[in-house]
Amino acid sequence: MSVNLQTPIDYLKGVGPSRATLLKSELGIYTYQDLINLFPNRYIDRTRYYKINELQQTNADVQIIGKITGFKEVAQKRGKRLVANFQDDTGVMELVWFRGQKWIRDNLKTNKPYVAFGKVNWFSGKFNMAHPELELQEEHEKNIRSAMQPIYPSTEKLSNKGITNKVVNKIMQQLFIETKGRFVETLSQPILNELKLINKSEALFNIHFPKSTELLHKAQFRLKFEELFYIQLQLIIKNLIHKKKIKGLPFEKVGNYFNTFFNEYLPFNLTNAQKRVLKEIRADLGSQAQMNRLLQGDVGSGKTIVALMSMLMALDNDYQACLMAPTEILSVQHYNGLQEYCKKLNINIEILTGSTKTSKRRIIHESLENGELQILIGTHALLEDKVKFKNLGLAIVDEQHRFGVAQRSKLWKKGPTSPPQSSHEEEAKNEVGYIPPHILVMTATPIPRTLAMSVYGDLDISIIDELPPGRKPIKTVHRYDKNRLNVFRFIRDEIKKGRQVYVVYPLIQESEKMDYKDLMDGYESISRDFPMPEYQISIVHGQMKPDDKEYEMQRFIKGETQIMVATTVIEVGVNVPNASVMIIESAERFGLSQLHQLRGRVGRGAEQSYCILMTGHKLSNDSKTRLETMVRTNDGFEIAEADLKLRGPGDLMGTQQSGVLNLRIADIVKDNAILNSARYYAKQTLQNDNNLSAPENQVILNTYKQLAKFKNIWNYIS
Ligand code: ADP
Ligand code: MG
Repeated sequence: MSVNLQTPIDYLKGVGPSRATLLKSELGIYTYQDLINLFPNRYIDRTRYYKINELQQTNADVQIIGKITGFKEVAQKRGKRLVANFQDDTGVMELVWFRGQKWIRDNLKTNKPYVAFGKVNWFSGKFNMAHPELELQEEHEKNIRSAMQPIYPSTEKLSNKGITNKVVNKIMQQLFIETKGRFVETLSQPILNELKLINKSEALFNIHFPKSTELLHKAQFRLKFEELFYIQLQLIIKNLIHKKKIKGLPFEKVGNYFNTFFNEYLPFNLTNAQKRVLKEIRADLGSQAQMNRLLQGDVGSGKTIVALMSMLMALDNDYQACLMAPTEILSVQHYNGLQEYCKKLNINIEILTGSTKTSKRRIIHESLENGELQILIGTHALLEDKVKFKNLGLAIVDEQHRFGVAQRSKLWKKGPTSPPQSSHEEEAKNEVGYIPPHILVMTATPIPRTLAMSVYGDLDISIIDELPPGRKPIKTVHRYDKNRLNVFRFIRDEIKKGRQVYVVYPLIQESEKMDYKDLMDGYESISRDFPMPEYQISIVHGQMKPDDKEYEMQRFIKGETQIMVATTVIEVGVNVPNASVMIIESAERFGLSQLHQLRGRVGRGAEQSYCILMTGHKLSNDSKTRLETMVRTNDGFEIAEADLKLRGPGDLMGTQQSGVLNLRIADIVKDNAILNSARYYAKQTLQNDNNLSAPENQVILNTYKQLAKFKNIWNYIS
């Protein structure tokens, strides 16, 4: 039978039906192709043998030569375990089995030298190895050992059912025998030449059976590059198609609203970064395509004014605009801030949230539909079906990381469905019958640019990388609970100078009750140390009615209260420039990006601001790293990098939804340089040959089609 890589794995010699079923269900391996793409997680040196007295508690794979001197059975909660004494000339350890005990006892010989291979654990004063791979030393020596034995991804079930690493290795060998190790090249000759990449067959051989460390590295590089290249290619093509297919509402002019605001009411000079971003947005809005842009900017970098000015562009072209924020407090704050400008400009602006009264709601709905209302600010309430715009031209989402992809797509459908007014709009209407508004999503949770590009491949990205002038960097310190008196003294001094203070408590869904108690205890203790009437204290938390929250918030904003005790509801966006101290209680319980967000609530005025991270004495290593990072830097991007290192990319915003990180071999964080180069080459390839028709690009086109056909690529992309 002739073999091609789409041959079902069942046909591979040594696999058979039951193994095939397991490979499919456990590892998603259906074909030869899938198996060849099962890349080892790591490699271990099988030429190195350890002595028992050299073992360390590192949980690494090791091999040890020794003799079994006896067995015993140990009863445990469920069933029993079989334990063997394993001994070399330096010491004794244990081999342990939880299953297959009869077979072990019948087949293993005592007092004969074996090579035991596996992970060592430290358990009640002894090293042990559970379910070791065992081979008689004389057998073992007949095989040639490589200094780099691949260790393949596995699952508990696979190893339970006897598909050990050794077995995978064997069937991999069989695959290379049957295919003669010849595989179709998947990258173009110019790219191979330029980057001096090894060819596909050589790369695959060396990833599974490395001939040398050098070849292994070359193989890894080439395969990582290839993986990232095709993802980038896919993303860029998707973006290009989007731009061609999704026509946008044409905002032809910059008009009165924008110009009047810019010339007469803009309260400060824009930073260069703000100007650049506005230009990028302007270019998008003026093009024939729908804008889909992510605006990243650190806390306090001035995104709101960019949002307002973008909305003015929409109004100048007779479209409506909306701005959605994740919390009521933030919506109100946006509304209050923007309302002043709108009054001067004679613009109708309203706010819609969960707590908007029904009568008011009705008025808003009506004036939205007849077009009188020009700007609507609000929470998720904006997404309700009843909220219909006459002609929504621009939808802005603030603090995008709080929303999901689904919500973004709901906004799309708020676009105009009314009879088109110009031929452009006719074109713009797509099959679904609505014209999507331009979309701008804003976030203060910075993620490294390349990662953002990979995760939000369908979004264009703008970055405000500059803070408004005159900001003093916030001073951040870490203090233990026992220093509380000093901290309180410091607060008193700041209040004396006329400043205001936030005290923030954690709010974690699972332990809401506990958190609430912590908050109330804290509030009481602060009330005791800062008694009325000299001090006034606001309190805001999630269980309060919106009206009460708003009332307390307003008292703080107006300066009637000096201290704001709150949960993380104030985390996003809140802007009170006179507040200069942020105390974060139980800071060890917060993630880095949250700490950074919270700290961003101060440092908004001209005064020196402070962030004090309060913790108990016991801290995990990760907590320590987080606190040290916060103390060391104010730079959101640096913090994001640190966060990425601590948590891995899986937890970052958006990455779960997009699934972009299910990579086979590349690591989007560690292989950042390769990612950049892959993106560069993908871009360049498409720029020079946008439909991949050049002869040298046939191989890319074929691979791309193949990947799309077998849906591999789509796994990466939402
Ligand atoms: P964020 O990007 O975190 O949403 P904001 O838009 O709330 O930041 O801006 C933070 C503060 O900085 C606001 O008080 C705003 O008025 C002010 N601001 C924004 N841009 C500038 C600028 N170019 N010069 C001076 N102050 C600015
Ligand atoms: Mg903001």
